[in-house]
Amino acid sequence: MKPYRCVYERPILTLAVRFMQDTRIPPSQPNYPENELNYQALIEHSSDAIIVHDPQGKILYANPAALTLFGDTSLEEARKNSIFNHLPKEFTKGARESIQKVLEGATLPPVISPVYLLNGDRIEVEVRANRVDFDGQPAIQIHMRDSFSRAKLIESLKRQAEDLKRINEELEDISHIAAHDLQEPVRMIVTFAQRLEQEKGASFDAESHRYLQTITKSGLRMHQLLNDLSRYSRLNMHELRKEDIDTNILVEQVVGMIHSPISGMEARITRNSLPVVRADPTLLRIVFQNLIENAIKFHRPGKEAQIEVSAKSLNAEWNFSISDDGIGISPNYFGKIFKPFERLHSPDSYPGTGMGLSISKRIIERHGGRIWVESEEEKGSIFHFTLPVE
Ligand code: ADP
Repeated sequence: MKPYRCVYERPILTLAVRFMQDTRIPPSQPNYPENELNYQALIEHSSDAIIVHDPQGKILYANPAALTLFGDTSLEEARKNSIFNHLPKEFTKGARESIQKVLEGATLPPVISPVYLLNGDRIEVEVRANRVDFDGQPAIQIHMRDSFSRAKLIESLKRQAEDLKRINEELEDISHIAAHDLQEPVRMIVTFAQRLEQEKGASFDAESHRYLQTITKSGLRMHQLLNDLSRYSRLNMHELRKEDIDTNILVEQVVGMIHSPISGMEARITRNSLPVVRADPTLLRIVFQNLIENAIKFHRPGKEAQIEVSAKSLNAEWNFSISDDGIGISPNYFGKIFKPFERLHSPDSYPGTGMGLSISKRIIERHGGRIWVESEEEKGSIFHFTLPVE
């Protein structure tokens, strides 16, 4: 008995071939050289500008990179042009001679040629040409590499980045110097207001006392703000000194340091087992201190704050979380609170300068991490930050 396979082999194969022929994706218009889909894909995705033109220079095809380079809105628009429209007049004769040679089968070395874009800009491109058959007719396929403007772009981006870095450094110097130099007059204002109060206070009426107190209070606040501004601007100057840090110990130390405000404010701080990370210990301590102090400070009145510090490893990063059950933050302010001096409460209701989170953000970003918050008003907040695993 004939094996079952042989009986059906031929009809199945025939059907399969016919099916493939019938359902083959028709070559999109216009026909590409040799009508090969792989070839077509290669050309369409090439980052080089590729143009096919007839022996008289009429453009027959331009790939997407060529349309982008020249500024054509469509292939139809490109096909209205001749390759000579893109060349400076003085290059026409040489180009015609090269076309003739290529059509005769010569291989010419790549040349650097100026070309005009549709917006009138003139750029230099590296050009290679070879002969192809296009719709059965001899044609020229040109590859153009815009390496010069790309190199120029990279150069100008580099220059811009350097300029930005310099301007940034200058601004930081200015804010550091301003913050530092303003401290002295502010200190004098506070000192003399206090001396006035102490030495001449007996002869003042209630209103004068109040004025003096306001001067002192504002002066002290200004002093605090300047201190934090100076700390913030110094951060980028601080050279990162990374070490292996056991964050269990670091968090214990931070909690120990802020022990007294905690006992005054009733907070319970727990932590999971935390990892060893590679970071600058001085700076990382500041981040934990800011986040834990905030979790304590923004607790709900009359309730012991429950704070938890934890970490998990995710996608080659450590993700630390400091969660609290405090007053929470409206989602409208999630971005705002990380900006310098932005706070959601008056200093009378919650003390602070609004710099803690911006300082923390700058530190974490310098370590290549991110910081963000999840929160719901009246429910609590979770501050997350990541550190790359090194
Ligand atoms: P500061 O604590 O000095 O005000 P921060 O930059 O540390 O400055 O915080 C900015 C603001 O973000 C705070 O004023 C507060 O409104 C909000 N915030 C920060 N942490 C918390 C938190 N754990 N719970 C509720 N609000 C918070």
